[in-house]
Amino acid sequence: MTRRLGIIGYPIAHSLSPVMFKAALDDYGFNISYEAWEIPASGLPDFLDNVRCSKPAVMGFNVTVPHKEMVMSAMDEVSSEAKRAMAVNTVVNRAGRLYGHNTDGAGFVRALEEEAGFSFNGCSALILGAGGAARGVVMALSSKNLKEIIIANRTPERSARMAKDVKRYWNGSLRSISLASVGLRDAARNAGLIVQCTTMGMLHGPDEDGSLLASEDIPTEALVYDLVYNPTETPLMREAAKAGARVLGGLSMLVYQGAIGFELWTGEKAPVQAMFKATRQALNSSGS
Ligand code: NAP
Repeated sequence: MTRRLGIIGYPIAHSLSPVMFKAALDDYGFNISYEAWEIPASGLPDFLDNVRCSKPAVMGFNVTVPHKEMVMSAMDEVSSEAKRAMAVNTVVNRAGRLYGHNTDGAGFVRALEEEAGFSFNGCSALILGAGGAARGVVMALSSKNLKEIIIANRTPERSARMAKDVKRYWNGSLRSISLASVGLRDAARNAGLIVQCTTMGMLHGPDEDGSLLASEDIPTEALVYDLVYNPTETPLMREAAKAGARVLGGLSMLVYQGAIGFELWTGEKAPVQAMFKATRQALNSSGS
């Protein structure tokens, strides 16, 4: 009997997860399907009830916008990473009990270590944005012995709130600033790691052609990581390349956060090369 996995979100048509996980499941020849389930917020309680008693079993599912926070309160158990990020992006169903995880932060760290051989020790990080993805990134960075983290957001109240939450579990050096503040350029010039966690530069996003930093503010020695993966090269990535900095786009985080989910569901090592190949092909054929 075919077992099932999937992703819930609203809307969900844009998601690369079905393509990515089909490649991973096919690589092992598993008799498991991966589906996209478009669920509005009002449909969430019924969806979770159905998962708990599903036959054939829904082994688990990914969670995307707008459900990452709401799903958390319905879990039977929540990992410490998900508690800190205040969001669940991966759920494991064990005989009707639902376990909530957050793999975004660990996926981000794995992407930097595997794809860039990046060493976090003693570095200053500038985080652009203070939404759900930024929370996962900062949560993961807080275990990496950094010198300092600066969170810069368009709405400064949101980055200040996030800094307050992070300080509950991390006593390292942490500041929040506004993207409009004069301190942004200095923060960028002193950073060894710059992580772009806003929707700027995203295809069909609010500011597709925008970059929050210009090349003259980006140090040559820095690594610039843009969470946006569509397009594969954003305006910020072009500015960073012009500055001579190392640059990575968000596809690697997507694949590695998915790899951790795959390992939680199946107990097998994720075939990351197959996952990269399938997602790159999907992005190329979507014309980005
Ligand atoms: P979110 O919770 O909605 O947060 C959006 C962030 O973008 C906020 O900080 C918001 O600032 C900022 N923003 C929006 N429009 C802006 C503008 N015009 N100028 C400056 N800042 C602006 O979204 P999210 O879930 O954190 O996702 C953020 C990005 O990360 C998206 O592009 C998403 O696709 C990407 N992402 C990638 C991965 C991956 O695996 N690669 C994983 C998760 C997310 P305000 O607070 O001021 O509104």
